[in-house]
Amino acid sequence: MSLFSMKITELPKIGPKTATLYERLGVHSVGELIRMYPRTYEDLSNPVSISEAQSGETVCIKAHIVGNNPPVRVRGGMIIYKITVSDDESQMTITFFNQQYMYDKLKYGGEFLFYGVFKKNINNFEMASPVVLSTESDAIIHPIYKQTGTLTSRKIEVAMREALKCLPEKTNDPIPENIREEFGLCSLDFAIRNIHFPADIKALETAKKRLTFEELLVLQLGMIFRKNSVKKETPHKITQDFTEDFYKLLSFSPTSAQKRAISECILDMKTDKPMTRLVQGDVGSGKTAVGAACCYTAVKNGLQCAFMAPTELLATQHYNSLCQLFENSGINIALLTGSLTAAKKRAVYSALKSGEVDIAVGTHALFSKGVEFNRLGLIITDEQHRFGVAQRAELLEKGESPHLLVMSATPIPRTLALMIFGDLDLSILDELPPGRQKISTYLIDSTIRPRALNFMKKHINNGNQCYIVCPLVEENDTNMASVEEYAERLKDTALGSCRIAVLHGKMKTSKKDEIMTEFKNGNIDVLVSTTVIEVGVDVPNAVIMMIENAERFGLSQLHQLRGRVGRGTVKSHCILVSDAQNEGTLERLKIMCKTNDGFKLADEDLRMRGPGDFFGSRQHGLPDLKIAGLSSMVSINDAKEAAEMIIADDPTLSEKQHKPLAFEVKRLFSSVGGTLN
Ligand code: ADP
Ligand code: MG
Repeated sequence: MSLFSMKITELPKIGPKTATLYERLGVHSVGELIRMYPRTYEDLSNPVSISEAQSGETVCIKAHIVGNNPPVRVRGGMIIYKITVSDDESQMTITFFNQQYMYDKLKYGGEFLFYGVFKKNINNFEMASPVVLSTESDAIIHPIYKQTGTLTSRKIEVAMREALKCLPEKTNDPIPENIREEFGLCSLDFAIRNIHFPADIKALETAKKRLTFEELLVLQLGMIFRKNSVKKETPHKITQDFTEDFYKLLSFSPTSAQKRAISECILDMKTDKPMTRLVQGDVGSGKTAVGAACCYTAVKNGLQCAFMAPTELLATQHYNSLCQLFENSGINIALLTGSLTAAKKRAVYSALKSGEVDIAVGTHALFSKGVEFNRLGLIITDEQHRFGVAQRAELLEKGESPHLLVMSATPIPRTLALMIFGDLDLSILDELPPGRQKISTYLIDSTIRPRALNFMKKHINNGNQCYIVCPLVEENDTNMASVEEYAERLKDTALGSCRIAVLHGKMKTSKKDEIMTEFKNGNIDVLVSTTVIEVGVDVPNAVIMMIENAERFGLSQLHQLRGRVGRGTVKSHCILVSDAQNEGTLERLKIMCKTNDGFKLADEDLRMRGPGDFFGSRQHGLPDLKIAGLSSMVSINDAKEAAEMIIADDPTLSEKQHKPLAFEVKRLFSSVGGTLN
């Protein structure tokens, strides 16, 4: 029987109540429990003394037994064992319930490591049901699990030990033996045991490597299946390319990267299969024109297009530029956002249904229930990171195998992109339009901040605007800048007389849009914000971006933020403020000052911080990866190579030795829709 069909309640001491807590962690079965890896580890090689320990903290204390009280039987039949231990300085009471074997093990004089929650009572120090390890034990690396409510990491650990007892003698290893040999990977059994209870650091690394590899392999395979299976024939094959006509509408000449991307899209749309393409290009690389070109040719071929943006403001921005661009070309464009009046919405709905509208620009309102298209042939989504694998599938249901173009301003190293967007074809805009001014970037520490504020004031006096980005919203006890408090403090600085507003993720969308519109209209001089401004709103008049606690951000994210300025004709500046002392951190930030190339920065991020930033967060709508985000030494190329080897051998994973692997692919993708039939 599979451990995935063994309910968690079949483990000792897990009743329905505890089971609901496990459910919150996404764990229903013993199999899922075993696949819930520790969030981190506690290294027990550094025990604290009893006097150092803080009440309520989970600590490791090395002490020897100085007294065993006789067992006490209490009501209900429970037996309490109390043992007194000492570290030669202070004493502490260790309490066990019903665990006679522990009592027998802890003999007078013996020295052990006690790991558990330390408590300072009125008249003694205590630790209840600790993990007890021999001081000679190698097992000094201790798992820490994500906890919820009363379900502590400690309790999960106890359950995990029970769960591991259920592992069959011979586990079905999803990674075929030849692949394990080829890439130097340990067995699943070894990996599972050592990811939870590592024998030593080396065993932990071996386990992590194997499990990361497995996860990436499974992800890669799922993406390959998805890519192969999604594609039915499309009735929206285009026959004629109108790109040359489109170019005549532009007030500039397209870059060769734009031309290449556009022709790749047109080629896709000329085949029997729908296009599913990702255009990746740095901020300002001109992705809108690529989308517009596709719309133009699609409309001229009789198709209807939907152009979707993540916010109303961005949708409106696109709507305005498309209206301008297609002014005299007989193309009918409509804007559909959530804030339209019901009457206006109805009008747009009916025009969409009748086919009168050629291009509908809007937010996700475009795909709400009542919306029907007449002949939806092309869907474009901008700033794709809000739309994951599952959402992509949902969009496509609005039409009959429509073409899909996804546009992203988040440069991702190519190897990663191929995996994260493995179900899409990729076009890269690796060139900026000519004449762009480089954004000058500086790294300063907070002692220089007053000068930076004066510099900003000078630009504001000239009629320009500035952004200040802070990492967190709430006031907190560290000196991390928070927007509210920060804006307050600005009143006593050179910017005191300026019009200052704040923007953060906890605001209502309508409020956010309102403030962004005010800023865009020039009614705000300084916008103090969290990273919510990251998504591409165009305010050409904003020329300085100051980023506080810059060390908290990845390079890609800093770059993304920096892209909010430098959109007009005035020279723009980005000021990174950091008091970080760490050499590596400073080195990383200095790279920002040297290059404006988002792909280079993404590569650096990958090199210095590992793939966690890219896999982590729900940005890409990937299935829930358990480990890839934690590990810094994944070989993505190896996992890809392995996937290709396996597929070449058995394209449908239907051979017997691939059954466990097929099972894992299904499991990983179950949250985002199945891939294997
Ligand atoms: P992004 O890729 O960030 O979405 P946009 O499409 O918003 O970039 O383009 C940024 C700006 O550059 C716009 O004002 C657009 O009109 C302009 N632009 C786009 N392509 C070119 C080009 N080939 N030459 C000159 N300007 C261009
Ligand atoms: Mg854009």
